[in-house]
Amino acid sequence: METNADNSILDIQNLNIEKIKKWNDEYYNNKGKRRKFYCLTMGCQMNAHDSEKIIGMLSRMGYDKTESEQDADFIIYNTCCVRENAEEKVFGKLGVLKHLKKSNPELIIALCGCMMQEDFVIEKIKKSYRYTDIIFGTFNFHKLPELLLSRIETGSQIMDIWKEHGEIAEDTDYIREFPYRASVNIMYGCNNFCTYCIVPYVRGRERSREKSDIINEVKKLVSDGVKEITLLGQNVNSYGKNLKEPVSFAQLLREVNKIDGLERIRFMTSHPKDLSDELIYAMRDCEKVCNYLHLPFQSGSSRILEKMNRRYTKEKYLSLIEKIRKEIPDIMISTDIIVGFPQETDEDFEETLDVVRKAGFSTAFTFIYSKRIGTPAAVMEGQVDDKTAHRRFDRLLEVLNDGIRRVQEPKIGKVYDVLVEKISSQEGTVSGRSTDNTLIHFNGGKELIGTTVPVKILENKTFYLIGERI
Ligand code: SF4
Repeated sequence: METNADNSILDIQNLNIEKIKKWNDEYYNNKGKRRKFYCLTMGCQMNAHDSEKIIGMLSRMGYDKTESEQDADFIIYNTCCVRENAEEKVFGKLGVLKHLKKSNPELIIALCGCMMQEDFVIEKIKKSYRYTDIIFGTFNFHKLPELLLSRIETGSQIMDIWKEHGEIAEDTDYIREFPYRASVNIMYGCNNFCTYCIVPYVRGRERSREKSDIINEVKKLVSDGVKEITLLGQNVNSYGKNLKEPVSFAQLLREVNKIDGLERIRFMTSHPKDLSDELIYAMRDCEKVCNYLHLPFQSGSSRILEKMNRRYTKEKYLSLIEKIRKEIPDIMISTDIIVGFPQETDEDFEETLDVVRKAGFSTAFTFIYSKRIGTPAAVMEGQVDDKTAHRRFDRLLEVLNDGIRRVQEPKIGKVYDVLVEKISSQEGTVSGRSTDNTLIHFNGGKELIGTTVPVKILENKTFYLIGERI
């Protein structure tokens, strides 16, 4: 949560947190066990980071975390609406929760996140899922303590959906998934209106946080032991344009790079149309900025890119990649690709394959176009049938995977510094990432977690590498 100014928002919520904590402490004193919460996060890194904040608030309220819905006294789904199947999953799971609620009437069910900003979803919840207790959206999740307290006190369903963002409320009080790695929001919302995308409608227009607030947050994280930070925004390349004193993303990177004790800086997501030379030079010059870039291209057909309102062409994208590689030769680039966008022909799809072959991606997130109500693409003529979209998708994966394997192959025999994240599923091994964001498994134990270890690469498994400590 953010505020540029209004601390009273947080004061009120802190008061509510205290009241709920008291309620939970009384329960603990009577029953000898704590109430538990279960949090399901769907969608992108922004949602994952919002969930870290939600988990932070619930922990302060005296709840314990559980991984089992059956065990939970409070269940919260932080939803995503970028794809239809994610929405269907939520409605499917809500059906199951109805039975849980019957067997445990004290259970409180909360829904939040992007899906809740869609009118048809709210209508459906009102009609068919009346047993849900708290419903709120993307602009007011800092109000969770107030909404929960209100539900506890009244027993009624609480629905609080804002159509626009309010004050940005600063708050670094969240529980990180990894102690040495953290995400930091630098901006919210998006102004781009790609014709397939629902995000600008559910997350609002672009708002950047003040540079000083971001720097202070990163410094605090570093003093807590964080070594790697990821700067988050829907389109980080347009960071700072709307601030009273405009700052470019490149300038922000250079400032963050100066922070003592910080080892790695990552960021996402970048829009190709806004990726400036200034940013490429900052990435090249700042030793803490990782040699990795996520640069979605979506389609290789300039005709389809125009229909998507992406505001670049195939040629422009490829020349951008070339320029980046010239300045940062060892950079790894990943991307997002959509197949089956309305009116996409086999020729258009071949252009997409052509970009994949030429660009040399280290990994990619691939999607079959999903129609989102309220977006211009949803009502375009020439929607591509499922069979064609799936055929193209399978072909895309073949070409992509072959390309990824080739990109990773030259790493065999080389040594990479790996920041160890966790124990991996195979006994006696740990996994982590190199600065170029490649997942690497190697021999080691849990004492290595959070440390940076030099690892020699032995085997290329396409989506990850296997190595040994040297
Ligand atoms: S840049 Fe386009 S795809 Fe990305 S969030 Fe904005 S509208 Fe959606």
